[in-house]
Amino acid sequence: METILRIVKESGIVDADPAGLEDFKARGAQRISKDKAWVYRRSIQGRGGVLHFIGGAGDEKSLYLVGEKALPSGFEGESARMGGLSILKAALSPRNAKCLHEVFPFTAPVSLRERKTTIGCGDRLGLATPGHLRAASRYDIAPVLAQQSIRELTLTGRDFPGVVADATFMVFQEGYNRGYGADGDHLKTIQDMDAALAAGMPMITLDLSDVMSAAPASWSRGKVDEEFEKLDEGARSHVLREYADKTFRPGGTEIHFSAIEAKRCALMYLRALDFSREVDSHIRARRGDLYDLEISIDETTAPTLPEHHLFIAGELALRRVMVSSLAPRFIGEFQKGIDYIGNVDDFERQFAVHCEIAKASGGYKISIHSGSDKFSVYPAIGRHTGMRLHLKTAGTSWLQAVLVIARANPDLFRRMLDTAVASFAEAAKLYQVSTDLSAVPNARDLSDAELPGLLDARDPRQLLHITYGGLLRDAEIRAGIFQTLWQNEDLHYSAVEQHMEKHIRLLGARPLI
Ligand code: ZN
Repeated sequence: METILRIVKESGIVDADPAGLEDFKARGAQRISKDKAWVYRRSIQGRGGVLHFIGGAGDEKSLYLVGEKALPSGFEGESARMGGLSILKAALSPRNAKCLHEVFPFTAPVSLRERKTTIGCGDRLGLATPGHLRAASRYDIAPVLAQQSIRELTLTGRDFPGVVADATFMVFQEGYNRGYGADGDHLKTIQDMDAALAAGMPMITLDLSDVMSAAPASWSRGKVDEEFEKLDEGARSHVLREYADKTFRPGGTEIHFSAIEAKRCALMYLRALDFSREVDSHIRARRGDLYDLEISIDETTAPTLPEHHLFIAGELALRRVMVSSLAPRFIGEFQKGIDYIGNVDDFERQFAVHCEIAKASGGYKISIHSGSDKFSVYPAIGRHTGMRLHLKTAGTSWLQAVLVIARANPDLFRRMLDTAVASFAEAAKLYQVSTDLSAVPNARDLSDAELPGLLDARDPRQLLHITYGGLLRDAEIRAGIFQTLWQNEDLHYSAVEQHMEKHIRLLGARPLI
């Protein structure tokens, strides 16, 4: 605390007026260092005669409050008085994050429903946000920083309050005040949604895969007819009246519903649509209008047919579900951590139809899941959505962290690759991949200089993308990952920044001048 206090005193910021403080923040290195301690320059904020900032000392990062008089209560931490100043060192905990939201509302996640282009920047380690923000702040987009599924939380040993707290403090560290989102991703139960909502997450991605029924997609006509007759009379007559033998023309594209397809849709989706309504009113009861509901039907076995998308959109509107974004499953393959697999022209043709349906159905955003590294289809995605879209990425930022480790700590990287191979079978049950383990070299056969190149090769890349759970469960490797990234923080931020910027640029986002 003493060194931190000395940095503050010597920089003269204790007495600076607001204009002087802004001027100070705009100039000089991002860290103001002394001995083994530093202050993150962009984080410094004055409020009520008290300076608030993030500082690092030794191997820990904390929130500091410094002032001449008594410090505000609420924040939990260690306090001291030295040289005429009071100082509080507060842990980067969920409780202190809530206090920070009160003092600086820009640090709390908000609904991004009114923002046209939103990009999900999942951050498995809770360390990558500054890189995401540096890329995002140069474009006309809004980032969703805290974005985790239950699967990711389980595999990384985190929880929603911790995820939101990590994003909060890094938003503060960067002085980013243009608003960010937080997404309880791929949630299936009201109970999980409540956990995300309690942590202050304004976005809920409702994964319908457990409540929709995939089987009718492959049923015979006879079976579809038979099962349809079991639905109640009201539902049957509604579906037949609204869809059977009808032609729709969203944006000039013709979509024809045969009677059998209408019945099939009813059997596949009606239950899920009713659940969507329940979820929507549940969230609204807690957050008023300030929420972003994403409907996700992407985790299914077959691509979403345009008529199915149209059916779902129509029925959601009928149930007055406030849909911010919807994630269909597209044709081709969106495998983890690698580029699109499939014919790009075919993708573009069908993608355009999905965009027209979204435009004609209230204008929700089309959401692209497993969006990491799908560079070959980004230009088409940007074009057909007119940048009204949500793109989700997560693993690609984790891989940038792994790349930094390959460069900065080759021995740790070699151990990680071995452990990744050992945990592949378990991870492959959770992710849709086609990794060929025989194409993953033994890291011991490679020189240090050759290691980073493995992240450019499809099979090792995909392997490292999905095995983060096994890697983080190994206590020694986990500690090594965090320590290496801590020691190479700037390198890590710029690796994430460059890679995220590539995503944003290829989509066609408008640069801010
Ligand atoms: Zn998904």
